Amino acid sequence: MSEMPRPQDASYKMLINGKFVDASNGATRKSYCPANGEFLASFPDATKEDVDAAVKAAWAAFDSWKKVSVTEKQAILTKIADVIDANKETLAMIESLDNGKPIRETMTVDIPLSSDHFRYFAGVIRGEEGQASIIDDTAQGLFGNNLSIILREPIGVVGQIIPWNFPFAMAAWKIAPVLAAGDCTVIKPSSTTSLSLLHLAKLIAPLLPPGVVNVITGRGSTTGQFMLDHPDFRKLAFTGSTEVGYSVADAAAKKLIPSTLELGGKSANIFFPDCNWAKAIEGVHLGILFNQGQVCCAGSRVFVHEDIYDKFVAELVASFKKVNVNVPWENTTQMGSQVDEGQLQKILSYVEIGKQEGAKVAVGGARATGNGLEKGAFMQPTLLVDVNNKMRVAQEEIFGPVAVVIKFKTEEEVIALANDSEYGLGGAVWTQDINRAFRVARGIETGRVWVNQYNDLPAHTPFGGYKKSGIGRETHKVILDHYTQMKNIFINFEEKAIGLY
Ligand code: NAP
Ligand code: MG
Repeated sequence: MSEMPRPQDASYKMLINGKFVDASNGATRKSYCPANGEFLASFPDATKEDVDAAVKAAWAAFDSWKKVSVTEKQAILTKIADVIDANKETLAMIESLDNGKPIRETMTVDIPLSSDHFRYFAGVIRGEEGQASIIDDTAQGLFGNNLSIILREPIGVVGQIIPWNFPFAMAAWKIAPVLAAGDCTVIKPSSTTSLSLLHLAKLIAPLLPPGVVNVITGRGSTTGQFMLDHPDFRKLAFTGSTEVGYSVADAAAKKLIPSTLELGGKSANIFFPDCNWAKAIEGVHLGILFNQGQVCCAGSRVFVHEDIYDKFVAELVASFKKVNVNVPWENTTQMGSQVDEGQLQKILSYVEIGKQEGAKVAVGGARATGNGLEKGAFMQPTLLVDVNNKMRVAQEEIFGPVAVVIKFKTEEEVIALANDSEYGLGGAVWTQDINRAFRVARGIETGRVWVNQYNDLPAHTPFGGYKKSGIGRETHKVILDHYTQMKNIFINFEEKAIGLY
């Protein structure tokens, strides 16, 4: 095992009202690198009072922030993108060390995708326009000569809670549209992976008026719960498990405010005999090994047509064995560490559940060891075969580099199997037949279907779930609707009274 680099500070503070602060009671938590268990940095464990101070600061900032011109917001969003790009290496290494994901992913995906997110919203807000219509026929013409103007206005102070699998990218997905919409935010990262957002806070604080973005840290069950219980949010936005998603929706309903939820998934990755073979084999890897399989839209159910099943699975097994599982900071690492030992244990327990259900381990199935990896939470790339779609391993989210492989005969059958899931987030179909691709894509009940690719998530495509995978969409300008409310100004131009009274 090579020596771990240390780009990050040894302790971080929260950003509240433009100031870097400790928790009001001084409590801290620690973050460790899951690849070797080494201490990385400490950060505040926020109290109820801290959450309250952040919400108050956000409301105080809102009055002037909501009036900031679109050109000025564009300039600020662009500067944030620039500062992320300028600090790409540092941010990528912090993210890789804190989360365990390989540096080649954070350098090419997590960090550049995030700066692009700010750039996308910087651009898109210049094209946002309201609507106007002439309405002359109300009440049989009695109230004619009207102009209706529809505008979108900021919603106020938003509470945002994000998970540990893409800590930096999820922060960008949340903060960029909030700023674009003219809202202010109190955002909490997962206590497992708080460092990259805390580092971002240091970079962007000089670019923003105090209180517009407040970053608070702490555990979900305490700090997160204080946020859900706080009466003064106008909207909640959450990415994480379906289980906690229920609590967020519940908290929002009790306050009568909207919530957007990006939750779990069990997505189908479907392979027909006429697929582009090399791309398709890679597509399984992209679907289940990218980010160690800790991806909400992971291609965790691999459906393979019976005509190619044996050859396809044999090639997958051979290629999974060649994947370079290693420490996240090495450039040659293809798969890094799971986020922590607890997550690794959960993944391993699902392999056992699969075996008890009658599935066979075709490759992997155990923790990855050797060359010092036993110090970390490393998992072997794993395929379970002889699986049917009713098994728990085919229905429940494993959130690791473990795909189940299921054989199918017909297009109708595979669409039905894909839809036999409580989730509806992503999925893909691999075929050279455009008609079949379109039929299957339309048949699958999910918010995103890729054709001949997997896990590409650019800023200008809407992403979100059907069924228990969530409510609302993120990325794409459509999210500005979720962070604004509609104002209708209705003007009458008649000079004379109607004469009704
Ligand atoms: P999680 O346990 O639901 O945690 C998500 C966030 O909620 C974390 O910040 C967590 O804080 C916080 N939290 C936990 N309990 C809370 C409570 N009672 N009140 C308020 N906040 C609370 O999910 P996770 O384990 O971090 O992430 C994995 C899950 O997220 C998977 O199911 C995955 O599919 C889903 N996910 C979905 C998407 C999507 O876009 N659809 C994207 C990424 C992940 P702590 O971590 O500090 O406890
Ligand atoms: Mg950590």
